[in-house]
Amino acid sequence: MNVLPKSIRKLIEELSRLPGIGTKTASRLAFFLLKQKDGEREALSRAIAELKTALQFCQQCHNLSESLLCEICADKHRDQNLICVVEEPLDVVALEQGRSYQGTYHVLGGVISPIDGVGPRELTIDKLLERLRGLSGQAEVILATNPSLEGEGTALYLAKQLKKFPEVRITRIAHGLPIGGDIEYADELTIKKALEGRREYKPG
Ligand code: ZN
Repeated sequence: MNVLPKSIRKLIEELSRLPGIGTKTASRLAFFLLKQKDGEREALSRAIAELKTALQFCQQCHNLSESLLCEICADKHRDQNLICVVEEPLDVVALEQGRSYQGTYHVLGGVISPIDGVGPRELTIDKLLERLRGLSGQAEVILATNPSLEGEGTALYLAKQLKKFPEVRITRIAHGLPIGGDIEYADELTIKKALEGRREYKPG
């Protein structure tokens, strides 16, 4: 690779740090960018540069947002007493593709995983409980963590915490989702069915 100019080598090096991108793909992308028009390349580099400055976490649901409240939380037509708890922002994107859900979300920021040093405190669980304390009337929390070992464990932990709120109905999405499969990769119909088929969830 030393035969390549330093600027291209640097770009390949940076691109190959991205998930799922090896040196070969990074090289291909770098040369693709090289052939692009100046304007197109600048638009990409601007989008990357502006990424962090423009983004923050929604104060209510902790989804990625460009303002204090994300678009979903700020939407008056959304049912604020219906909260779907997910692991990551990409799960919100997937669930929104089902187009049938009219509630709000709560993004945990991961799952409880002692091996990885992630306990309940590392997630936004306290914020969820705080959020529930602020609600009035009947509410429902849909536990939509992934059907993995950690996802199930996190759902169980949450259900136990939510017992403190007798007015809150606790449900778990149906397992139309493949076991061990990620919500993030599920198709529209599977998502729709998983939400529609949700059931009461009670920790043992
Ligand atoms: Zn929000």
